[in-house]
Amino acid sequence: MRMSMQNTPFNLASCIEFAGKYHSQQKVITRRVEDDKIVEHSYHDILLRVRQFANALKKLGVKHGECIGTIGLNTHRHLEAWYAISGQGAICHTINPRLAHHQLEYIINHADDQYILIDPIFWPLIEGLHKLFPNVKGYIVLTEEAFMPKTALPNVHCYETLLAAESAEFVWPEFDENSGSSLCYTSGTTGNPKGVLYTHKSNLIHSYACGLADVFGMTSADTVLVVVPLFHANSWGISYLGPIIGATIIFPGKRMDGEAIFELVDNYEVSLAAGVPTVWTALLEYADTHNKKMTSLRDVVVGGSAAPPSMLKAFKAKHDADLLHAWGMTEMSPLGTINRAVPQLKNMSEEEQFRYRIKQGRPVFGVDIKITDEDGKELPRDGKTVGHLLVKGNWVVHTYYGDDKPAVNAEGWFDTGDMATIDEFGYMEIVDRAKDLIKSGGEWISSVDMENKAMGHPDVSLAAAIGIPDEKWSERPLLVVVPKAGKTPDKQSIIDYLSSEFAKWQLPDDVVFVDEIPMTATGKFSKLTLRQQFSNHKIED
Ligand code: AMP
Repeated sequence: MRMSMQNTPFNLASCIEFAGKYHSQQKVITRRVEDDKIVEHSYHDILLRVRQFANALKKLGVKHGECIGTIGLNTHRHLEAWYAISGQGAICHTINPRLAHHQLEYIINHADDQYILIDPIFWPLIEGLHKLFPNVKGYIVLTEEAFMPKTALPNVHCYETLLAAESAEFVWPEFDENSGSSLCYTSGTTGNPKGVLYTHKSNLIHSYACGLADVFGMTSADTVLVVVPLFHANSWGISYLGPIIGATIIFPGKRMDGEAIFELVDNYEVSLAAGVPTVWTALLEYADTHNKKMTSLRDVVVGGSAAPPSMLKAFKAKHDADLLHAWGMTEMSPLGTINRAVPQLKNMSEEEQFRYRIKQGRPVFGVDIKITDEDGKELPRDGKTVGHLLVKGNWVVHTYYGDDKPAVNAEGWFDTGDMATIDEFGYMEIVDRAKDLIKSGGEWISSVDMENKAMGHPDVSLAAAIGIPDEKWSERPLLVVVPKAGKTPDKQSIIDYLSSEFAKWQLPDDVVFVDEIPMTATGKFSKLTLRQQFSNHKIED
């Protein structure tokens, strides 16, 4: 049959082209990382700058399918880089600046990054580590000349200087919409991080879904505070959705404290905000202690870790804002579920409604979810039975970057490593984690890596790392240690020993010494028992 509809392959650059043309007055507002100054650009300005940077990259010899790394916080320059890189067919590899050095080494080399774009505040990382990245041809510092680092390294460019030399005309190439657009690595429970390569098409469908009224419900009248990092899980799709819809976007730069976030919400009348629980805890605390109310906020999306129930109540009671609890993964672009009230909840008491509203939410069209037992048999959706949470859909990973083996089972389902219930309305609730990881402030710490390293300490026989609840960071690592016979290692010597392989924020808050570690029937550490045993653990100085 003859093709009946136009079939132009989709290029993500069209989001920013559309914004520049049809939302030209709407703004991208950034607190710059170099000096905390707030700068505003219209989408039209941003579009011209994206095209200039695309020209600059082309001149540097960047080719289709090559990876370009970015080590940057949320700023307009980082956003521009996203579009300039992917739009010309290269892959924007967003890198978490807080990773341990050996993880940075692994992912930059695994992705074979050709250039690295970096915020000036992270430059010392490169001075220390550049020898570990032999294939990187050069660095582009996301700043202007006045803030360029003094360095003897060759091929270090200033972003604004590169832009200034280029034309604001650029013809975006046409290529298969299933081509990779962006790459994000996520921590594996063991071994090296794994890359998830999003495509132009998967990102587009995901963004459309995020824009549905029952999902983020974002419109051009919204001012959206994007706290969720551009370097982690695609900034929840908002960096594509904002330009598509024409919402004003605010990027907070490096200041994530309650006061700084409050100031942005208050000054710019933010109506929608997205971030991890740690940030909203700090914001609520600031508003509380300074007796401030956020009158403009309508919806606050929270995800990455479980939102404490008190947060939902606090936003509603004190600021008349709805907390939308969302769940997803890097492997899911990242959105899986979001919590909006279904009409059936209206007839329930407030307390009953609350029980549903604090769950991680219902799936968004485009992804399906189910829970299974150990043998893969589907379990009932009764809100009580706990099973392994599996997902399938148009923006869910199929194979990790560079792997041969699919990450999904024979029927195409991806095992999330989360344990959950699903109820009669389709609300999913995460109740535990089968994967052995700790998530602190929205970022992963591998418990297995920590244990393996700790067990290399000369005085340690066994070591188990678990996450314990923490009001500020959602979870913090605790290391449980069985010393070798006749040895009495002290806490600090173990932490010092770990610090060669872990970033400072990843180190355990405490080390406790025990005679034995509880084991499962299969001879593994029983993390469940340990988490229960130490759930009220107080850190000793
Ligand atoms: P990441 O790939 O780093 O975004 O992490 C995804 C994982 O974070 C999920 O598999 C969950 O373990 C956890 N996670 C994300 N959102 C939530 C949430 N709302 N509640 C509990 N855990 C969450």
